[in-house]
Amino acid sequence: MQTGNINVKTENIFPVIKKFLYSDHEIFLRELISNAVDATQKIKTLATLGKTDSELGDLTIEVKVNKDDKTIRVIDHGIGMSAEEVDKYINQIAFSGAEDFLSKYKGQDAANIIGHFGLGFYSSFMVADRVDILTKSHTDAKAVKWSCDGSTEFTMEEIDKSERGTEIVLHISDDAQEFLEENKIVGLLNKYCRFLPIPIRCGNKTEWRKPEPKPMDENAENKDEKQEEPKEEAVQVPRIINDTDPIWQKAPSSLTDEDYKKFYHELYPMNFEDPMFQIHLNVDYPFNLTGVLYFPKVKNQLDLKKNRVQLYCNQVYITDELEGIIPEFMTLLHGVIDSPDIPLNVSRSYLQSDSNVKKISTYISKKVAEKLESMFKENREDFEKKWDELKVFLQYGSLTDEKFYDKIKDFYLLKNTDGKYYTIEEYRNLVSAMQTNKDDMVILLYAANTDEQHLYIQAAKEKGYDVLLMDGFLDAHAINMLEQKNEKMRFTRVDADVIEKLIEKKDEVSPSKLSDEQQKNLKEFFDKDIDKSKYTVMVESLSETDLPVIITQNEFMRRFKDMEKVSGQQGMYGGFEHYNIVVNGNHPLASRILEETDDEKRGKLVQQMIDLALLSQNILTGEKLSEFVKRSYEIL
Ligand code: ADP
Repeated sequence: MQTGNINVKTENIFPVIKKFLYSDHEIFLRELISNAVDATQKIKTLATLGKTDSELGDLTIEVKVNKDDKTIRVIDHGIGMSAEEVDKYINQIAFSGAEDFLSKYKGQDAANIIGHFGLGFYSSFMVADRVDILTKSHTDAKAVKWSCDGSTEFTMEEIDKSERGTEIVLHISDDAQEFLEENKIVGLLNKYCRFLPIPIRCGNKTEWRKPEPKPMDENAENKDEKQEEPKEEAVQVPRIINDTDPIWQKAPSSLTDEDYKKFYHELYPMNFEDPMFQIHLNVDYPFNLTGVLYFPKVKNQLDLKKNRVQLYCNQVYITDELEGIIPEFMTLLHGVIDSPDIPLNVSRSYLQSDSNVKKISTYISKKVAEKLESMFKENREDFEKKWDELKVFLQYGSLTDEKFYDKIKDFYLLKNTDGKYYTIEEYRNLVSAMQTNKDDMVILLYAANTDEQHLYIQAAKEKGYDVLLMDGFLDAHAINMLEQKNEKMRFTRVDADVIEKLIEKKDEVSPSKLSDEQQKNLKEFFDKDIDKSKYTVMVESLSETDLPVIITQNEFMRRFKDMEKVSGQQGMYGGFEHYNIVVNGNHPLASRILEETDDEKRGKLVQQMIDLALLSQNILTGEKLSEFVKRSYEIL
């Protein structure tokens, strides 16, 4: 038996690492399996090149959990190692990797290091207090057993092992006993190894199968008697964890829409909704990247970010925390990205400034825009059907990345309250004749709710205006963005002002029937009992046929409030609602109020008019509403 010292300068390297990566102990399994897969791929390559005499045989990698002797074994039939190779790769290389890691990141905040650091073989000491390697090379070199208890000393001896490959035996330490539950290990394998290219087995699973029907006995007496339907019986079959040939590695031309959907549900078993569509990514220059990105159906804000895009590196799961790696709005998408070119064993801040990562991000963003454009061009009708659910991605994309807006601006759609869709250009042309104001601004009118703002929408339509529907939860933000991007174009909600003033034209001033004195008096009557922190009264000379009192809400105040709501902040504008009570001085009722000499009667009339206006805006509630109902009966 050979004993030796592992050549590391830091004596107590193990406990340090153990503590360092405390939250990520589970990655030991991913690392060991990755090594096993690599070793298996190597023997396959050698075999295809005719450079080994060894028969390939069954290459399934096995993970065995044994609660009795407290071990986990990872067994492969890969290339194996000779004694010299163990010395070189394990004693020198594996450990120097660990030391590098320490010297690089000592003193740094562990959270700042990408959580899934590839520590290789070494990470097994996070869960084991002794690790054995039993390995037989594909050459005729003798099999060896290497053993180490986590100190810097190891032993190595020749053993009898005829099967080619490597068996790693982890003697699980007392504080890591949870890993001795097979279910736990299966869970981890499902997380990290679900799409590895070599089959991985862990124990057995139960399958219910119908037994083969018995052949009919020709000589049996009751030939006509029906054979009993065979009962299903439980059979134990090897539990294979992974899909060795995941969809993103295949040629898009060989796949159907159904294949993509099936894979989507495999990825997100708890999501029962089909995705809208997907984009298959495939680049090999200037970096390698494959993947499938799905556009999920998003119904509300809560749906967002529930499932995440998963990052793989050569089919090994790395992370689903992709902020900074893919364009921000893509974190709303679902699917997988696989790239061997994203450096993983570095800190997140480094990652974000990495030029490859930046290129990847730009590439994906370009791909997504191209796909959307081709959908729009090839089948506009279908694109419009998807628009309501698609909109949020384009909005989020444009809000977080200016360049993205430039890529999609020609097929960013606006939907009006009649359910028709227009590109921004089309819409501008549609409304510019009627809706250009005195400053040459095209005013796009919109409603956030067709029921609540029905009255205002009607009024606008009667005037020959068109009204957009903006009821998405990012619309408030998108409106600001669209105004910035499109010159001479402003959005105004239909209830932001009385219809005459919604779009102020050059020559349109309706004359007032009231004198200044009368207007002043009218305002005072309305001001009398009103809560001035909530309402501002103004007298306007509108058309006689317009309503006598109209409630409006200043566009900009309201917009800021809406935006605060979306971002979940309660800021300056969030605390209070403020409305304008616009009294139509030209309405016959205005004259009636001015002529009324009985204070009480006039008071009631004013209150009734205000309440009716509030009621039409859905803001008359509680006690005020009861009072209104009572007063209405009195008047009747
Ligand atoms: P890495 O895998 O990043 O190179 P590791 O510390 O995991 O680093 O492993 C060091 C080396 O040990 C590997 O590069 C490989 O040559 C060898 N090795 C590890 N596990 C196996 C295995 N199961 N079969 C054959 N060789 C292995």
